[in-house]
Amino acid sequence: MDNCIFCKIIRKEIPCNKIYEDENILAFNDINPAAPVHFLLIPKLHIDSLTDIQDNHQSLLGKMLLLAPNLAKEQGCEDGFRTIINTGRVGGQEVLHLHFHIIGGRERLPAMIHQG
Ligand code: AMP
Ligand code: ZN
Repeated sequence: MDNCIFCKIIRKEIPCNKIYEDENILAFNDINPAAPVHFLLIPKLHIDSLTDIQDNHQSLLGKMLLLAPNLAKEQGCEDGFRTIINTGRVGGQEVLHLHFHIIGGRERLPAMIHQG
């Protein structure tokens, strides 16, 4: 995945503000934060989007989910946070490397979807 921006971050070809890394997972602050806490949790394995996950990704995805609340708390989300996975064109996904947005802070976030 030569041209994938998140794969470049994983390979350290592009810098990031890293908050967590292990063998399989990387988390770093979003460059354009939507709230005081806004980081991205990504698998080091390139997977385009949630529509591309397979059975053999189960444990990786489970590990990412288990990490999310711990990292959110470490980053200052004391009373909840929002997890967003944009998928595909309709979901507004801009970077085609699966990522979880973790968003929060001290204040309640605005409603996510406005009706009508
Ligand atoms: P999405 O629309 O779900 O694909 O979100 C992509 C996110 O990646 C956006 O919130 C961007 O601000 C963020 N982003 C893009 N490039 C970088 C980068 N080099 N470092 C950190 N975050 C980035
Ligand atoms: Zn990638």
